[in-house]
Amino acid sequence: FRQPIMAGNWKMNPTTESDALNLAIGFCALVDTLEDTCGLDESDTCTEVVLFPPFPFISKVKDIVSEKGVTVGAQQVYYEDKGAFTGSVAASMVKSVGCEYVLCGHSERRTLFSDSDVNINAKVKKVLEFGMKPILCIGETQEEYDLGITEEVCAMQVSKDLAGVSKKDLENVVLAYEPVWAIGTGLVCDAEDANKVHKFIRTVLAKMYDEEAAQSIRIQYGGSVTPESVDGLMAMSDIDGCLVGGASLFSDKFARICNFKA
Ligand code: 13P
Repeated sequence: FRQPIMAGNWKMNPTTESDALNLAIGFCALVDTLEDTCGLDESDTCTEVVLFPPFPFISKVKDIVSEKGVTVGAQQVYYEDKGAFTGSVAASMVKSVGCEYVLCGHSERRTLFSDSDVNINAKVKKVLEFGMKPILCIGETQEEYDLGITEEVCAMQVSKDLAGVSKKDLENVVLAYEPVWAIGTGLVCDAEDANKVHKFIRTVLAKMYDEEAAQSIRIQYGGSVTPESVDGLMAMSDIDGCLVGGASLFSDKFARICNFKA
């Protein structure tokens, strides 16, 4: 059994603190009305829900959502512990304000901020060292998809980004398969196709670790997930949750996604 995990990556939105807190409050209000079926509580059998607000809003969003059993995470950290790294945020800092998860290797970080696999690997290890859980994002670009090398790209990213991560530490890692061509485009990956990639990723992990590790790790799908597509995705055997961008900025849409019907 793998506990479903739904995550809302707000990216660089909303643009003011008041808008961010209103989004969190609106989401909590809807979570109440969905309580019977949604199961947004802390019991193991229920769906885990994590929000990734921008850094300045993390603490206050956490205060709002924690009573609903919703946790918060950071969209990014730097791999150094502290020091003269102007503009950067350390793992210990986000840990100290209550983050449980950190996104690592998001495609926007890879392309816009030149995050390399070596750096991503260092970040994953730093997040684990501080007792938090990385959500490691991988996935092929449109060009790589067109070349038919999705599996090669995912295998390479998994092996490089998890290099040196022990089997024990892997228990605290979540993967997110996010085909780059599906992010923010409205082009959700076909559920069966995504499931095939998820299964393939497990075969890679089985070789790196073992079958048990490969079967226990949770793998989210990300890329244009909406209330309309979530149920089909979550019905798949190897899709354990979704990493949601655009739709997580609407409290009703994200509440419906968390309340998926498998
Ligand atoms: P969208 O849901 O907006 O496509 O974004 C997906 C994503 O990048 C989540 O991290």
